[in-house]
Amino acid sequence: MDLAWTDFLNSLVRDWRGGGGPAEDHLAQPAWQSAFLAKWGLDAPVPAATADLDAARRLRALLLDLAARVLDGGTIPADGIGALNAALAGAPVRRTLEAGGEHAYAVRLGPAATGWTVVLGEVAASFARTLAEMDPARIRLCANPDCRWAFYDDTRNGSKRFCEPSTCGNLMRVRRFRRRRT
Ligand SMILES: [Zn+2]
Repeated sequence: MDLAWTDFLNSLVRDWRGGGGPAEDHLAQPAWQSAFLAKWGLDAPVPAATADLDAARRLRALLLDLAARVLDGGTIPADGIGALNAALAGAPVRRTLEAGGEHAYAVRLGPAATGWTVVLGEVAASFARTLAEMDPARIRLCANPDCRWAFYDDTRNGSKRFCEPSTCGNLMRVRRFRRRRT
């Protein structure tokens, strides 16, 4: 399942084969920024200003840290909630009434402003909704320590451990097999 916050965390692509190569950071790339904004229906200037990029990297580090904490059934400490709330404050919400669709009327929530502070607030909101409205125990970082790809495990039995069985899952299986033989 694709969520704005997993998409955002995965802007940092690590060398999942464990070659020790540098991580590829897509965050500063205008093409990544445009694609991210379009995918999540958000509006901000591209390329992002340096100060916005710094704030984005800080939020990414925070979300990675918080995701790692809840991975094994842990909880988010008060200062983590405070930091998340500070990011949420950057995204004022506008309610609109819409007619038609599944029900006769629907109240929709959307960002009340544009800009990177709002985008980052929406990303923080996506993580907050996962904690509050979905199952935080299904938040995952790929079990390959060299990968750490973020995802939400929506399999029926919640047994997904790797971003992709064919890449990281396979790699870790091969490593386990080799360890057993030596
Ligand atoms: Zn992986």
